[in-house]
Amino acid sequence: MEHRIARKLARIERSATMALADQARSLKESGRKVVNLAGGDPYFTTPGHIMDAARGALNEGFTHYTSSRGLPELRVAVADHLRHRFGVTRDPAHEIVITPSAKHAVFVSLMAVLDPGDEVLIPTPSWVSYGQMVRLAGAEPVSVPLRADDGFTLSRELLEAKLTRKTTAIVLNSPTNPTGRVLNASELRDVADFSAAHDLVIISDEIYEQIVFDENRHHSPSEYLECAERTLTVSGFSKSYAMTGWRLGYVSGPQSLMNAVLKVQEHSVGEAGSFIQRGGVAALTGDQSPVRRMVEQYNRHREWAHAALRQVPGVECALPEGAFYIFPDVSGLGFGDSYSCAQWLIEEAGVVVTPGSAFGPGGEGHIRLSLAASTATLKAGVSQLCGALSTFN
Ligand code: PMP
Ligand code: GLU
Repeated sequence: MEHRIARKLARIERSATMALADQARSLKESGRKVVNLAGGDPYFTTPGHIMDAARGALNEGFTHYTSSRGLPELRVAVADHLRHRFGVTRDPAHEIVITPSAKHAVFVSLMAVLDPGDEVLIPTPSWVSYGQMVRLAGAEPVSVPLRADDGFTLSRELLEAKLTRKTTAIVLNSPTNPTGRVLNASELRDVADFSAAHDLVIISDEIYEQIVFDENRHHSPSEYLECAERTLTVSGFSKSYAMTGWRLGYVSGPQSLMNAVLKVQEHSVGEAGSFIQRGGVAALTGDQSPVRRMVEQYNRHREWAHAALRQVPGVECALPEGAFYIFPDVSGLGFGDSYSCAQWLIEEAGVVVTPGSAFGPGGEGHIRLSLAASTATLKAGVSQLCGALSTFN
């Protein structure tokens, strides 16, 4: 039977990262030995004190609805975090909403600001869900392709080239999935000037904010005076605290935008899980040394994978500045496209990676490897992959 499917979904693709995660799981279930370097899911278990807080909440019977904005103590913890890290003041009563995942935080933000026909600028390569979410909101994603040979640098010139009268918002993501770039002060200044000049809302996805390497520093656009009143800042617990399965994130911004965000949240999921939010309080207010240890591990993984990939003839590979992905350019090897390369790697090397084409214009020719696997898995996967690519011609 042919079911009626909403017309808007004809233009929406499945999440490539999630489809690949399913493919890796079913290959494993069918008995194939594959190393999964596709998904951005830290292999670490959530730190013990966070688990204890959630267990404690369950033991107390803390199993009811919370405020739709989220637990007051978690909003206070988020406000403190924003003030200490970025010097940004957000009122926990009106300017912060706790969401079930950062993904949902991006979604409610886009739903809150977009009307049908609006255009949203998205520097690409970018995380797979932004463009699809913009379409779900009835608006049009407009890629701003960044160039690998230019280090994926964002500039006002590139943004201006894609501006039309319909442009209403820009999605930023730094540290960036999949490229590993961390936007520097001059790029952020360009975004700040550009969005102020054209009265655009900035949706700034900062979920990898704590995962930066070397002398790189993460800055939020909300730190810039002209941006604070036009930025919805998204972050979450999945990556920094190894809490992917908890589904917990948040969005903060000026009150009028946050009132709109709250309406979408109230009529979609209501709020994040009560005992889950207690875990979030422990994450933000408790011992931060596990975060430092995990980032140190990702740093070692990054250096090791970078050194190995650079040895492969025909492969170009930049050292990631942040997040936990590495994004080598394999276009010199003669695969038709990155999807064929990724499928070939499953068959010939037993390694699952994400094709760069999944991340939009500018991603083709690359593959994305996650550095958040265990050291043993990463080393096995990268060695098999490098060995196989070295024999390809
Ligand atoms: N933004 C980016 C850039 C991501 O890579 C992810 C990872 N899934 C998310 C948002 C969503 O994170 P989560 O929904 O697990 O909080
Ligand atoms: N962010 C991760 C990734 O890009 C997890 C999957 C997803 O939510 O897209 O692989």
